[in-house]
Amino acid sequence: MSENPVTVKTIVDALRSAGVEPGDTLMVHSSLKSFGTVENGPETVIDAVLEAAGPQGHVVMPTLTASYAEKTGGPVGIPFNPATTPSRVGLITDRFWRRAGAVRSAHPTHSVTCIGPKAAAWMAGHDKMSTFGIEGPYAKYVKSEGCGPCKIVFLGVEMVCNTTLHAIEDWLAFPYMATSVALVENPDGSVRRQEVTMAPLGHRGFYKVTDRHHQLMETSGLVRHARAGSAEIRVLPALGCIGETLRLELERPGILLCERPDCEFCTEGRARIVSIQPEVRARAKQIRDRGLSA
Ligand SMILES: [Zn+2]
Repeated sequence: MSENPVTVKTIVDALRSAGVEPGDTLMVHSSLKSFGTVENGPETVIDAVLEAAGPQGHVVMPTLTASYAEKTGGPVGIPFNPATTPSRVGLITDRFWRRAGAVRSAHPTHSVTCIGPKAAAWMAGHDKMSTFGIEGPYAKYVKSEGCGPCKIVFLGVEMVCNTTLHAIEDWLAFPYMATSVALVENPDGSVRRQEVTMAPLGHRGFYKVTDRHHQLMETSGLVRHARAGSAEIRVLPALGCIGETLRLELERPGILLCERPDCEFCTEGRARIVSIQPEVRARAKQIRDRGLSA
């Protein structure tokens, strides 16, 4: 355990040693408490990732509000407004979208927020498309066209909270994706109901996934490691992660599901994926053709 408080420099140095370069596009998943004591709390972590990406780079964070939607077990009934609704995925993300220059996409459950020269272009139109739409923010940051490569950065969290995996599942048309209804605040203050595609709600759901994919990524040789304070830092190239996941999925369908025979959700999910293999293969080819995979 480090006794000294973690500073901006501590985190930037760690990111550099894990291969982060100025100009990169960083998709950041984080846990503030994982660091131990941080000099200025969440603001220090945000300053650090922005400094590591540099003025020509981009920082993206999930600012999800999915737990406000129906069927998620969260506090249903809070309408989404990108300018006021707190992020439900950690203090760092909730401070990030409030930063000057941050652009938050307007999707009612799966908004993402970006700071960087192309933030407005990448985040646009999310309210008018399906959650992980292949023309939308989840594809734009991954592809980071004309900019530095996208690297998924895990600050003190395991690779199970890799939101990009849900985009892959959706792009592959996996039949176990869920739908829900979210409330959205209109500009005049009235509230409408909007149906949304969600991450799976069973064993494959957020933070519930087995560590199987995490282990596969660790053994792929794609992940670089560093440490800041007591936080383990992992950096995973996004295109490489998608390429390796597609390769493994086509080899062994249901690679994101667990293998416990008593797990009903995963056993059934795998059978349903196997039953649509031609479509999965066609979708995987589309993903590669669009430059969303290495
Ligand atoms: Zn399972």
